[in-house]
Amino acid sequence: MVVTGQGPRVLLRRMREVMARPEAAQARLDRIVSLIAANMVAEVCSIYVMRPTGNVLELFASEGLKPEAVHKSTLKVGEGLVGVIAHEAEPLSLSDAQSHPAFKYLPETGEEIYSSFLGVPILRHGVVAGVLVVQNRVQRSYTEEEEEALLTVAMVLAEVIATPDVQEVLSPAGSAAALTGSLHMTGEALVDGIALGHVVLHEPRIIVTSFIAEDVDAERERLDTAIDRLQVQVDELAQRSPGLGGGDFEDIIETVRMFARDRGWLRRLREAVATGLTAEAAVERVQSDTRARLARQPDPYLRERLHDLDDLANRLLRILTGAEERASRTELPKDAIVVARTMGPAELLDYPQGSLRGLVLESAGSTSHVAIVARAMGLATVGSVESISDLVEDGQEIIIDGSSGDVHLRPSPEVQAVYSEKVRLYAKRQEQYARLKDKPAVTLDGVAVSLNINAGLQVDVPHLEEAGAIGIGLFRTELQFMLARRFPRFGEQQRFYKAIMDEAGDRPVVFRTLDIGSDKVLPYLNAIKEANPAIGWRAIRMALDRPALLRLQIRALISAAAGKQLSIMFPMITQTAEMVKAREMVARERDFLAARGQELPVSIRMGAMMEVPALIWELDQLLPHTDFISVGSNDLLQFMFAADRLHPRLAGRYDALSPSALKAFDMIRDRCDAHGTQLTLCGEMAGRPLEAMALIALGYRSISMAPTSVGPVKQMLLHLDAGKAGQFIRDHLGDDVASLREAMVGFARQNRIPL
Ligand code: PEP
Ligand code: MG
Repeated sequence: MVVTGQGPRVLLRRMREVMARPEAAQARLDRIVSLIAANMVAEVCSIYVMRPTGNVLELFASEGLKPEAVHKSTLKVGEGLVGVIAHEAEPLSLSDAQSHPAFKYLPETGEEIYSSFLGVPILRHGVVAGVLVVQNRVQRSYTEEEEEALLTVAMVLAEVIATPDVQEVLSPAGSAAALTGSLHMTGEALVDGIALGHVVLHEPRIIVTSFIAEDVDAERERLDTAIDRLQVQVDELAQRSPGLGGGDFEDIIETVRMFARDRGWLRRLREAVATGLTAEAAVERVQSDTRARLARQPDPYLRERLHDLDDLANRLLRILTGAEERASRTELPKDAIVVARTMGPAELLDYPQGSLRGLVLESAGSTSHVAIVARAMGLATVGSVESISDLVEDGQEIIIDGSSGDVHLRPSPEVQAVYSEKVRLYAKRQEQYARLKDKPAVTLDGVAVSLNINAGLQVDVPHLEEAGAIGIGLFRTELQFMLARRFPRFGEQQRFYKAIMDEAGDRPVVFRTLDIGSDKVLPYLNAIKEANPAIGWRAIRMALDRPALLRLQIRALISAAAGKQLSIMFPMITQTAEMVKAREMVARERDFLAARGQELPVSIRMGAMMEVPALIWELDQLLPHTDFISVGSNDLLQFMFAADRLHPRLAGRYDALSPSALKAFDMIRDRCDAHGTQLTLCGEMAGRPLEAMALIALGYRSISMAPTSVGPVKQMLLHLDAGKAGQFIRDHLGDDVASLREAMVGFARQNRIPL
């Protein structure tokens, strides 16, 4: 098989002629398969189209296979070679197709006489819309050029098969109904808050109408001009600092800027134009590949990078199609809830701040850049809501609950009423909490409890003041590292820590050194493959084995805290010896800076995180070497119960209020009291009023939590008699029950403690 003419260009030109004829899509596709078969000297050319259910491919047009198989033969995604292509979203080229393990013989097609097979996915917006196949009788290997040609043709086909008449054949009942009735969907709760409003589709379906270039040179020039404009736009965005405060955003924007100049990306765009596509079709082609890669990429960091690229491709498309002006964001409804397939952080920052009520994303997890930005904007956000952009239209009513992940499309009046009430209560509660902000956190019987917040970004620091917290009990330093493209240099780290301390003012900040490993990956640090990363080479273990990283971080922390008090804690300490080594490292760095005449912190306090159960029985040895202990109950409980904290099936299965867990917390408290060591707990449970009540009852006098939890926890403790609760919990620690939850709820009710 040879591609006649010069690559796909001739084929595309012919296809343009076919597309120019006014005829139904079926006739058009029939003509196209013949054209491809003739042009590529293949005996068979077939188009399989994905049915609206998204899991079955239907043979829609074929040159070479038996005509009676058309519209009859189907393959599930993953089934047969065509199904494998749809599943993997990757081309498949075989000289002997029938020996491939996935080959599935469909007798009605008569394809048993063909040996070689080349199939490519038909991608539309990164989603597999079908599969295009050519087959030959003789055993042969297809060239890269042939594969490329087929991919380019598939790009044009994607638009043909998206037309209403093709969809009508696949789903005669019509799919428009899907866009009218009420629909409840559930996604991942990303940013707390309830929002009722109207849909603003982030990608107002940019329609690329012309795919095949009339003049390749002219298209190349259009593309280059658009790229220039894109680069200027992104630079402007960087200068128009988002005003959301701080280094995190600058890092994100800087990454986007680098991508706008990424040679590989620009080369792929230019190559696509060279194959004969228009500039906008070329962008869509490259974007489709990116999105398909995105869908298959499990690594959260790399997914994020692909999102950034997708963000840029959208911008480029808007520039090329002139949608830039049309999609002016100034005329948003007052209660806009943006719905997007994917969104880069820069795109979210493009919306006028204050005009948005909520955000729904088809993809993007809680650590994605866009979620971080949304959190900083205080925007209720739900992620991982599959296919939602296909199910709504601009202006339709929508309700989202960022704390549960619920999304209601076109909600019924009853659902609206329920949520309006929820919003009212939510606002009222927030007001109540705000009023408590300056009240000292002291129980009814005069026990003062220090309420701290957990943080990790500069944008979190103002929450100290808003929540009325005493300090930052856990600053997760790894977040800065996770957002960066490479290891933050000494100066960058030092400036960042200094900015955090300056902004926190008199309120103390406890910096936890890098907790890398497990689900926290740094793309620039070669991660080793581990069967059990949560109990693997992570946190202090990695830091002690690769001391240069920890040394640099400690130096940056000491230098940033010149003239102030510094608190450092180490994650995942398992043995006393690790704490001793870490302390020595701090002492060395302090001496190093002192020898250079640098001003030092007035004091350096060092603590260990209590996350590994074995350490409970080593506290008498450990505590003389620590100034404080912070219980990382998220990890401690996952190890105690041998239950992966990220596993959805295990969520809630074992209770932090089980007698065994409470006894462990009690033992830790007991040893800390005996040694006079300050104790805090900074896992998620500290932010839940009932759990916080149990901790205070056990004698914990300092806890650290998400900023939004400070209000509810403070309200609880203002109504709590700590002594009475202590007596109650001790009376029940020996109970033969799986959990004391019920008993504690009863206690709270009886004593009118709001939870
Ligand atoms: C913990 O394990 O409880 C903790 C606070 O640390 P992280 O959630 O960052 O692992
Ligand atoms: Mg932890």
